[in-house]
Amino acid sequence: MVEKCYIPSSLEEALKIRRETGARPLAGGSDLMVQYKQGIGITPAFPFPVMIISKLEELRGIRQKDDGSVEIMALATPDEISQCPFMPWHVKNAASRMGAIALRNTATIGGNIGNASPKGDLPQPLILLDAEIVLRNCDEERIMPLDEFILGSKKTALRDDEIIYKIIIPPVSYSYAYYRKIGTRKANAISKLSLSSLITIEEGVITDFRAASGAAGPKVIRSRESENILKGKRIDEVQDVLPSFLDSWNDAISPHAMPQYRRNTTRRMLEHFILTAAGMPENQIIE
Ligand SMILES: Cc1cc2nc3c(=O)[nH]c(=O)nc-3n(C[C@H](O)[C@H](O)[C@H](O)COP(=O)(O)OP(=O)(O)OC[C@H]3O[C@@H](n4cnc5c(N)ncnc54)[C@H](O)[C@@H]3O)c2cc1C
Repeated sequence: MVEKCYIPSSLEEALKIRRETGARPLAGGSDLMVQYKQGIGITPAFPFPVMIISKLEELRGIRQKDDGSVEIMALATPDEISQCPFMPWHVKNAASRMGAIALRNTATIGGNIGNASPKGDLPQPLILLDAEIVLRNCDEERIMPLDEFILGSKKTALRDDEIIYKIIIPPVSYSYAYYRKIGTRKANAISKLSLSSLITIEEGVITDFRAASGAAGPKVIRSRESENILKGKRIDEVQDVLPSFLDSWNDAISPHAMPQYRRNTTRRMLEHFILTAAGMPENQIIE
């Protein structure tokens, strides 16, 4: 049986179709078209109705609010995100490393989150920055932490009548920032492992520390318990507490494939970042 394909011309119409038919949104199609492909030159066979949302103007754009937060609409592409002058550094970096240029102009942030792959590049820095996701149905908006929206590999809290509307990144400040994606090659590679981190040091004390590991478990890993081991410590105490922090992070991640490689590499990246930050002048990007 051939399932239906809808092409709504407004967000209102799209939400109505979604409620009445449960049609799945297709944005850039770079995950869906591949997942349901039948063969070269043959139209994909979707076992469910789909709704092409790529023309919906209401889902386009990136804005900075007066409080410094950044709103990224669901159809923003990695290219738009990486070119945006006010985009937080970690997210800009991750977007610029996604796929090749053609993909960076077709894929969308809504699709990257909706696909909920543990290897997806954008959820990792967004979760580091405590981003929230805004979902919409015909009647209302629902907002929740992105970390809670992504439940596991390919699982999200999206309801049958909802679509992803936008992402909100709260204002962020730090003394040092770190981002690393490890793929098979520098460009056009799915992440084997990725890590974002940030640290704020005020008068010799770590007042904020966060890290987010990608491709090291069924979803992006943030361990607040591990982060708290470093928070409040003076930088001259870092050497002493580092082993317990690294052990705690190692317990938090659960890499499936090549676990030893992923564990060792994550440990080395964190160690390098924290020790370098603890001994360097402020406001530097550590690469
Ligand atoms: C060659 C190639 C290279 C790739 N390289 C990378 C890479 O380096 N890094 C990376 O992270 N990914 C990569 N991907 C995966 C993919 O491109 C990304 O996940 C992309 O962001 C998906 O966006 P999309 O708009 O194309 O999603 P789609 O395929 O349109 O949708 C993906 C999922 O999200 C849902 N969805 C989409 N939009 C919404 C919405 N607004 N509301 C609710 N649900 C929605 C869909 O229903 C579907 O379940 C690659 C894919 C290919 C084919």
